[in-house]
Amino acid sequence: MPGPLMQGKRALVTGVANDRSIAWAIAQLFQREGADLAFTYPGEAMERRVRPLAEGIGARAIVDCDVSKDADIDRAVAEVRKVWDRIDVIVHSIGYAPREALDGRFTDVTTRQSWAIALDVSAYSLIGLARAFKPMMPPGSSIVTLTYYGSEKVVKHYNVMGVAKAALECSARYLAEDLGQDGIRVNAISAGPIKTLAAAGIKGMRTMLGENADKTPLRRNVDQEDVARAALFLCSELGQNVTGETLHVDAGQNIMGVVSMG
Ligand code: NAD
Repeated sequence: MPGPLMQGKRALVTGVANDRSIAWAIAQLFQREGADLAFTYPGEAMERRVRPLAEGIGARAIVDCDVSKDADIDRAVAEVRKVWDRIDVIVHSIGYAPREALDGRFTDVTTRQSWAIALDVSAYSLIGLARAFKPMMPPGSSIVTLTYYGSEKVVKHYNVMGVAKAALECSARYLAEDLGQDGIRVNAISAGPIKTLAAAGIKGMRTMLGENADKTPLRRNVDQEDVARAALFLCSELGQNVTGETLHVDAGQNIMGVVSMG
């Protein structure tokens, strides 16, 4: 067995909201594997949730960064530079769409504004963060983002988030090609449904989680730790020649066609 897989690596983790966040499971596993961590949070209200968790795990920096604001992204780089001269990993675990866009007929509720917000926060932010932190990322570093199957097939109520995730996955591929020349890898994990704060905003999520378990090839739901292990693979030397990939961590759900058969 190799030694700790993230020994000496410095990882910037976005998207922790609470101890059920996928990003939190990733942060904990990365730390157990030897990584140093820095966290971002969007605004004061979130700081109250994130700071105790981040301090408890020995974070080197805890930075205010609402990814819809360029100035916040620039400030985050400046804050991280105060403690680190390089970063090896960015975990992008951010998704948002206005709630009213996630409830009702896609045609009616997808306004110009909700589309712009969802795409900006959930997809553009990957590009914005990559550009801002690129000068700090040495060859061998990597970026991982979180996506969902609603980008590939229609998932009722997921609506504009599905469109945003499609843009996110495609952006990850374009970034992977462009940053490949700098030795930076970019990958996405398409996670099966998990009960988190973000998931609570999706109508029908509870039913989906209940029904989903029987419908996947492995007859189970996935959890945050399943996703964290995949992130460890992608962000460590185990995944050293993997880039531009969307890795499904969904108990096989995406291979299914008609799911209503007995
Ligand atoms: P979560 O609510 O714990 O995390 C979502 C995070 O997005 C929060 O920490 C929130 O602060 C952050 N965020 C929202 N707007 C932001 C902004 N403007 N600036 C900075 N951060 C912002 O929920 P989660 O399920 O852990 O979600 C993490 C990622 O995983 C999301 O991209 C989500 O779409 C994706 N995902 C979740 C599931 C699931 O079923 N939970 C499945 C597949 C993919």
